[in-house]
Amino acid sequence: MSSLNYISLAKRESKVEQTLSASAFRKFPESAELITGVTVTLAFYFDDQRKLNVDGTATTKARMICFRCNQPIMLDLVSEISSILVFSEEDAVEATKMGDHHRKGLVVVSKNEPDMVEIVEDELLLSLPQSIEQLELLGHRCDLRENSPQGEAELKERQFPFAGLRDKIEASKE
Ligand SMILES: [Zn+2]
Repeated sequence: MSSLNYISLAKRESKVEQTLSASAFRKFPESAELITGVTVTLAFYFDDQRKLNVDGTATTKARMICFRCNQPIMLDLVSEISSILVFSEEDAVEATKMGDHHRKGLVVVSKNEPDMVEIVEDELLLSLPQSIEQLELLGHRCDLRENSPQGEAELKERQFPFAGLRDKIEASKE
C-alpha cells in the first residue's frame, strides 16, 4: 500500500470504494453534522490530455439546522464527483487557463498519498442546501412559532445554530 499514490491509481485505472469516517471531515460546520460515514466510489484515470481525472459519487447523511426556523432536518447527501486532480496552485492556474474548470471541478491535492476526504469534502459541502427554497424542495416546512426569539437573541442563535440543536435534543430527552 505504501507505493499507492494518485498517479499509480490513475495508471491502473483503479476504482476505489471506501467508507470514510465522518470525523475525518473537518470542514463541515457544526450546523451540518454528518451522522454516518461517507461512502465513496471513485474511478481514477488519465484522460487523452494526460490529465488526472477522478469521477464517482460520495453519499452520506447529515443533520442540518434550518437557517430560518432552527429545526433540525435530516438530509441524504449525494455528490457527483467529476474532478481533475492537480498537485499545486500553479497547476491549478494552468488548468484554469486551459479551460478545464469549465467541464470539471479542480481539486488541488496537498500530497500524493491518496486521501479520499480531500477529493470529496468540498463537493459534499457544496451539495448542502444553500437557501430556504432548496430546503422546501426537500420537503422542509419551517416551524415558525409566534413566540420565537427576535432581534439579538435570534441572530445569536442563527450564528450558532448547533447550540440550539443541542438544547433541543437535551429538552426532548426530558
Ligand atoms: Zn425551517
